[in-house]
Amino acid sequence: MPGPTPPLLRVAIVGGGPGGLSSAIALSKLENVEVTIYEQARELREIGAGIQIGYNCWKVLELLGAEADVKGHVQETILQRNGLNGEVLGERTSTSVEPRYRGQRVRRTRLQAALIKKVPPGVIKLRKRLASLQNIEGGGSRLVFEDGEEVVADLVIGGDGIRSIVRASVFPNHAIKFTGRTIWRVIIPKSLIVDIPEMIVSTAWWHGPAGHFYNCLVDDPVETPEDQQMWEIAVHNVVPAAMVKEKRFSWGIPATNERVESHFTEYDPRVRDALSRVPQGLWKEFSSFSGPRLEKVVAWDKVVLIGDASHPLTGAFGSGAAFAMQDSWILAQAIDYTRSFPQPLASALEIFDSVRSPYYLRMFVPNFLLLNVKVIPQLMCSLPSRYEHLDQMAKIAQDAKIKNPGQTFEESLDVKVKAFGGGASASLSWIYELDIKEVWEEYVKTHKSD
Ligand SMILES: Cc1cc2nc3c(=O)[nH]c(=O)nc-3n(C[C@H](O)[C@H](O)[C@H](O)COP(=O)(O)OP(=O)(O)OC[C@H]3O[C@@H](n4cnc5c(N)ncnc54)[C@H](O)[C@@H]3O)c2cc1C
Repeated sequence: MPGPTPPLLRVAIVGGGPGGLSSAIALSKLENVEVTIYEQARELREIGAGIQIGYNCWKVLELLGAEADVKGHVQETILQRNGLNGEVLGERTSTSVEPRYRGQRVRRTRLQAALIKKVPPGVIKLRKRLASLQNIEGGGSRLVFEDGEEVVADLVIGGDGIRSIVRASVFPNHAIKFTGRTIWRVIIPKSLIVDIPEMIVSTAWWHGPAGHFYNCLVDDPVETPEDQQMWEIAVHNVVPAAMVKEKRFSWGIPATNERVESHFTEYDPRVRDALSRVPQGLWKEFSSFSGPRLEKVVAWDKVVLIGDASHPLTGAFGSGAAFAMQDSWILAQAIDYTRSFPQPLASALEIFDSVRSPYYLRMFVPNFLLLNVKVIPQLMCSLPSRYEHLDQMAKIAQDAKIKNPGQTFEESLDVKVKAFGGGASASLSWIYELDIKEVWEEYVKTHKSD
């Protein structure tokens, strides 16, 4: 016999990125839950070029029912090259993974469209920029939008990204800053670079002294005619953050070709040639920001942070979209679970926090500690609560530099390529090979008698 209908839960989701959209999908499946997404943009338009979809991401997309429409290029071979002379230093293939879960590079618009398709009609409200969030004692939270509208919700989900207003409202002392890493991204027709020797043979990383050039097909060659196939180019440059005086923006501002190319003048002629063929006006610049780790990702017993809002570490681990969607799915499971007892919303948020906060914390434990899982709990207590090493590979490279201050470019490349080829990526299998459904099943099994 079905139990009594749970009381109405009014949910306000701030942000229509992968986190906000997936929350709306997962929560709309629950009984008597009223969901609204408030998105600041005039239209839902993704500007970030391509995105990596790996096993962890496919698994959660399946749970959301959105996997069928996400299609791109299966990355069978990935090359690591010396960016200055093109020498191939390493090669990785992904043929051991079941075909449907292989890593793919897809257009971001494709992922976004697949998620939007699963959001029930009427849920997304555009041009709604949250200005502030207020705690109503004994009640819900009041969302105040820039256009003057005010809304009260029982649960507020902060899916508003790295510069989250929801986070700023519940944790006002938290601040993020520029890390020194700048990323430029573009998608161009394959035809523009097809004649450059070895430029389109496979996905490749061309590593240089202060960054890299990455290129990859983002379309399924079976589905997309040759003349319509697009390639993504993403280039990174890292400088000490203190050297940068200009104001930085975290997400997708236009950049001139001259600005981008100026950082790659020493690179292999093929890389420079490819950069010179990007039509003017297409590059978008992303500055990487990060901030201290949050001790908790829930607040006021009625606010929860998901995705980039909850772990400010732009672009790290190439899995941010998967993290955001995993958060959403776990949140929906936790709410559903506590309603069956029934327990208050605060209990669901505590469960969510107990599952997701330790997971994010683990991302910031230096890599060498991960090799000895038994010592992690003790060591984690004594670790500083800052994101000091956002990128595992950068961390390894940095350690090697400290050990060997006179390290040559070739030696530093060796460290990087080893990290890509095995070391770091293998020890990060708990990120890349995570099936979030198993995590939830484990939680339920462990807490059955509570
Ligand atoms: C250069 C780069 C490369 C990356 N590559 C990958 C990759 O290959 N694979 C991967 O999985 N991840 C990648 N990521 C990370 C991934 O893009 C993010 O982790 C993911 O988009 C986070 O989703 P989100 O929904 O939490 O936040 P976002 O995608 O940032 O979405 C936040 C949404 O909230 C809206 N918003 C913000 N403020 C307000 C407000 N005040 N009121 C209303 N709406 C608001 C924004 O307009 C936006 O739509 C990359 C990131 C960067 C920067």
